[in-house]
Amino acid sequence: MEKKVYIETLGCQMNKSDSERILGILSHFGYEAEEENEANFYIINTCSIRKLSEDKAYSKLGVWGGIKKTRPDVKIAICGCVAQQEKEGLLKKFPYLDLVFGTHNIYELPELIEELEKPTPEGERVRICAIRDKAVAEKEFNIIRSKGINAWLPIMEGCNNFCTYCVVPHTRGRERSRDVETVIAEAKKIISEGFREITLLGQNVDSYGKDLPEDKNGVKPNFAKLLAELDKLEGNFRIRFTTSYPTDITDEVIETVKNAKRICECFHIPMQSGNDRVLKMMNRRYNRAQYSEIVNKVRREIKDVTITSDFIAGFPSETEEEFQDTISAINELGLDYSNTAAYSPRPNTPAGKMTDKFIPNDIKKRRLAELNDTVKKASLNSNTRDIGKTFEVLVEKIKENDDKNGNVRIAEGRSRNNKVVHFKSETAQPGDFINVEIKEALVWCLKGEETK
Ligand code: SF4
Repeated sequence: MEKKVYIETLGCQMNKSDSERILGILSHFGYEAEEENEANFYIINTCSIRKLSEDKAYSKLGVWGGIKKTRPDVKIAICGCVAQQEKEGLLKKFPYLDLVFGTHNIYELPELIEELEKPTPEGERVRICAIRDKAVAEKEFNIIRSKGINAWLPIMEGCNNFCTYCVVPHTRGRERSRDVETVIAEAKKIISEGFREITLLGQNVDSYGKDLPEDKNGVKPNFAKLLAELDKLEGNFRIRFTTSYPTDITDEVIETVKNAKRICECFHIPMQSGNDRVLKMMNRRYNRAQYSEIVNKVRREIKDVTITSDFIAGFPSETEEEFQDTISAINELGLDYSNTAAYSPRPNTPAGKMTDKFIPNDIKKRRLAELNDTVKKASLNSNTRDIGKTFEVLVEKIKENDDKNGNVRIAEGRSRNNKVVHFKSETAQPGDFINVEIKEALVWCLKGEETK
């Protein structure tokens, strides 16, 4: 039987990167990536950050369970954060499920696949749940990356912060940094494969290296030093990174980004709330004044830097007045863009147990709408400030005969500070770096003209 795998990935970039690794491992066993309706091995890589995402995974399993009724040879697996959180309960809940593995044991897949494929003497079906509390050591496998301009490169995993609303420390475990040499070698490979942009991933990139030993010269690795090393690599590429915890951003990191050639001027610094009491309830280790201080410092030091953030509307017990502090923070700090979400209670989290303080859904919905409106206005203000500037744009795609623009060829890419830029061009190709002067600002993008 041909081995054809389909992986559906929900959630963050870390999951996307994990799926590329899973595909690489499976390719060693003869599996090839396939469209959903043609596959005979289905894997869902799940996210449990919000209930909605968890429900989406279960509904997909239901669809695949239906396929298995007519094609019993089909195998179905679940991995990622929901698997790590729900463990063998999933095998009971979904009788058609064959394999459950977690965030800590992707590198155990070869053994799990072998077990799954092994014929049993009685010919009965093998069902496996393999969840580990400790990470299984990394092994060398090819990574089958999604085609395009950007490649994800995880530098660390897990988080030690235990924000009261967040499942990550429970599903991804404590912080674990990958060796400097491993990260550098992977970056070189990415560049040699022709990718133009590397995005370094970590739940808290500024913690990178805290768990690593000193090198042979007695130097302790840290994020700034890693950035500086990556900046020295040969090739035509850019580096981005995400996510930064506000009070962990060091002066050394700011200085490194300021002086680097390839590191893009963009920081994603989640604030979550603009109110000090709510921040305390969230167990965030800063207040509004400290957050403002770091944002102002980054802006002062790095020209044209973009600062983006995350906010939650309707955290348990948040009053209307406290919510308005979030709105005023976005405006006051001139944040360029923010991701938003209504609070969603998650299992095993302290905030999830504050049931007597939950905010009714209709209020959360209204606050989220106001938050989104504020983010939209902030984004337009930020884009308007860019009119007249010239940005180096990395072209990602081309729209031939763009109808909206009167049958002209439009190139779309991102500036170093992560703004989407559209411009007319007869010659630009994906992967080109082109200087563009910004002429017009829209809410979610900029329009400009190629400069000679
Ligand atoms: S910093 Fe807080 S929100 Fe971010 S991953 Fe860690 S626990 Fe979750």
